[in-house]
This record gives sequence, structure tokens and C-alpha cells, in this order.
Amino acid sequence: MYQVPSHKPGFAGIGMTSERTRRRLVELLRDMGINSEKVLQIMQSLPRHIFVEEALASRAYENTALPIGQGQTISQPYIVALMTQVLFDQPRSKVLEIGTGCGYQTAILAPLCEQVISVERIVKLHREARDRLYDLGVRNVVFRHGDGFDGLADFAPFDGILAAAVSADVPEELVTQLSVGGRIVMPVGRGEKQSLVVIDKTESGLKKQEIEAVRFVPRLAGLG
Ligand code: SAH
Repeated sequence: MYQVPSHKPGFAGIGMTSERTRRRLVELLRDMGINSEKVLQIMQSLPRHIFVEEALASRAYENTALPIGQGQTISQPYIVALMTQVLFDQPRSKVLEIGTGCGYQTAILAPLCEQVISVERIVKLHREARDRLYDLGVRNVVFRHGDGFDGLADFAPFDGILAAAVSADVPEELVTQLSVGGRIVMPVGRGEKQSLVVIDKTESGLKKQEIEAVRFVPRLAGLG
């Protein structure tokens, strides 16, 4: 599904071995309970080392978060897989992603829906992710620099919303911009006490479930 861009100098060596190490990572995710074949297939095909600095590339297939600069991290592969699997309990066509970061999660979402709108508050990360996904041939993502927790009224309603930064509560604006039948997957909490929350908007109101304890970087206000 994805091909490593051949013009990325310095990554060639890792590119050769990454398919094998990626397979090992995918097997680990399966053992940890990820059972969406579609999600596993995309994660198998998408090189993760091109999303991190070259010095960290050899650690890209470990199941850990890694620094991506600006005090931010690329999410742990298990969490990316889990959130994607939970979001796509049914087909979703228009998804809002909050916290583009390096764009890894974005690249996992893109093949699963018609359009992803991905918002990042740090301009450097926003630009780098946009260029990286362009290089990967991804064309169905709209990248925005802004505060994602305000939602994006121009593109609403969304049938899926996923956030990669933890918020003290589920912002009202996001619920408003969710279509009936839509689902939000996001970490909610403060400090160490965070859990992955799923909100479904139904004809009769909102349904909330807590999936598991998680650890995300905080939602920040303003632009960086
Ligand atoms: N899925 C991304 C996660 C990056 S970490 C990846 O794997 O790279 C979370 C990201 O959320 C950071 O890049 C951070 O800058 C961003 N973020 C934090 N608060 C935000 C806000 N209010 N609006 C948009 N992005 C935000």
C-alpha cells in the first residue's frame, strides 16, 4: 500500500530491513489484541522510520513513543492501532484528526476514509507532516495549522474525530461538529490520570465508554 520514498537519502539501509522489523511489530500488535486486519495491513505497509529523525530511525519499530521535536512525540504504535480500530468500528468517510504531529497516525487514517482533515498547532510539525505525506503519495488529507479542539466548522459535520493530545473534558464544539452516528475517540483526563474515551452520537443522545488507561501529551492552547 505504501512505498518508502526512494529519494530519501540515508534511509535506504533501514528501508531494506524495515519490512522485517515491521512484520515483528505487527505480530506484537496482534498479540496485544489488535484484530482489525485492515489496520494491521496498513501498519505493515507504512514505514515508521521516515516519520522520525534519522538518529532515531533504528528505534522506529519498537512499540514506544519517540520524540519528534518541539517537545512532542510520535504516538506508540499500539495506541495508534487501537484508536484507529476503535474509530473504524464501522466505515467513516470524513475524519477530523487533532494533533497531526509527524503525520504517522494521519497516514494510517488516510487509506481508511475519503477525507481526513488534520489540525496541528505547531507550524513546523504541520508543514513537515504535510510534505512527508505528499512524498508518500497521500492526497486525501487537508492539513490545517490551528487549534484543533475548536473543530473546523468549514468541514463539519464529521463522522469520526480522533485527538492525539489529552484534554480535561470532551469539548462541546467537537460534539456539535459530530454527525449523528459519528464517533469521537480521544484521551480525557489530567496529568497521569488519563483514559481513552469513546463518544457515540446517537438519535437518543451521547453514549460514553472508557477503553483503557493511556498517557498522552497535553492539549495546548494558542499556536506554536
Ligand atoms: N499522532 C501524532 C501525535 C503527536 S503528539 C504523531 O504520532 O505524531 C500530539 C500532537 O498534538 C502534538 O503535535 C501537539 O503539538 C498537538 N496539539 C496539542 N494541542 C493541540 C491543539 N490544541 N490543537 C492542535 N494540535 C494540538
